[in-house]
Amino acid sequence: MLKGEKGIMKGIREDRIDFNKDYLGESARLTFTQGVTEVNSAEINLSQLQRNISIIRRNIKPGTQFMAVLKGNAYGHGLIQIAYEVERCRCDSIGVVRVTEALKLREAGISIPIIMLAPIMPEQADYVVNYDVTISVDNECILKALQESCDKYNKVVNVHIKVNTGLNRYGIEPKDACDFINMIKGKYPSLIVEGIYTHFRDAEFDNVFTELQIERFNNVLNKLEKEKLRPQIAHAAGSAGILLYPKAHYDMVRCGLILYGLELNEEQKLLLPGMRSLMTIKSRVVKIEEVKKDDFGGYGNRFKASRNSFIAVIGAGYGDGISRGWKEVLISGRRIPIINYCMDGIIVDITDFKGEVNEFDEVIIIGKQGDETITWEEACYHIKCFSDEQLQRITARVPKNYFYEGEVIKNN
Ligand SMILES: *Cc1c(COP(=O)(O)O)cnc(C)c1O
Repeated sequence: MLKGEKGIMKGIREDRIDFNKDYLGESARLTFTQGVTEVNSAEINLSQLQRNISIIRRNIKPGTQFMAVLKGNAYGHGLIQIAYEVERCRCDSIGVVRVTEALKLREAGISIPIIMLAPIMPEQADYVVNYDVTISVDNECILKALQESCDKYNKVVNVHIKVNTGLNRYGIEPKDACDFINMIKGKYPSLIVEGIYTHFRDAEFDNVFTELQIERFNNVLNKLEKEKLRPQIAHAAGSAGILLYPKAHYDMVRCGLILYGLELNEEQKLLLPGMRSLMTIKSRVVKIEEVKKDDFGGYGNRFKASRNSFIAVIGAGYGDGISRGWKEVLISGRRIPIINYCMDGIIVDITDFKGEVNEFDEVIIIGKQGDETITWEEACYHIKCFSDEQLQRITARVPKNYFYEGEVIKNN
């Protein structure tokens, strides 16, 4: 915002997403590829995103701000498209960790506050100041760089102070909070201290330590209150904090995993009723082969038929982000075992399901079909991987199709 101006930048965004524009630099959305159906796709249910948001909202105090965390390409769901939806759902702000993520959002016309949850480098200051990005600060070098940019462009910039209460990643020490804020107020007049926050180390499992972190943060806030230095927005809770520590919601919650309907881990089932994942990975049967006893199916010796068999090739492999170690897919509402894999396909054994599987049938790799569901948590459990980590592995060549329930799915 300009110096002296209050509130947020007014965006110039259009209502519809321009799918021709390659916002993410991730896939060439050239004219020739428009309208082509791919053999596989990630189908993203925006109605479910709306539902997850409203369920979470009902579980936080009215008036608590809601930050949607969209780092990592919105946990693999597509930064811009998810940003449009969370803005439409009136989330209060968006959290990211890379300056390029923040700038892509502004370029796409997103006008709600964007808050950086990781440090920036001094040479990025001009960009974040110009595009009204809110910065986490814990370091005087960044304060200086931000002030210089503000002077250069006649701007002010919002900052949130990061406090380290035990994660030992970023942040100033709790005892330094008063001095740090006083220093900003004294030396860096164009920096507006809007927020203060901390982050939990292990809110899912370590109750004792989380309580200690909350106590340390409360002490900081009380001290600042006394000195009349408390910033307007205090925040601490990510998904685990939102679900397990209502007293740590403070003035804002920072919602990542559960926004996308992902469980925090596979051991505890913490999602609230009605919350579900947004993304289904679909593919098709591209070929059915007969394999005689003692013959092979696919590369190497991974599958040697112990009986006369039928196998099917599915059009999604590790080139699409399908992980070796996933056990089953769904075809015709049945769980079918995966027996081999390659870059462009996985092979399943359909001997026991011969009449039920046909070439070009739909295959669900992650998601629901009939009465069966393969969840992200189940698939990731087999490969000892977090679901948010696995979502980052789905590659750019898998088209993302966005839909609202009841709407016909369009390709993009
Ligand atoms: C990623 C992140 C979040 C969101 O965490 P989830 O567990 O995915 O909800 C919140 N705060 C910070 C600082 C983060 O880096």
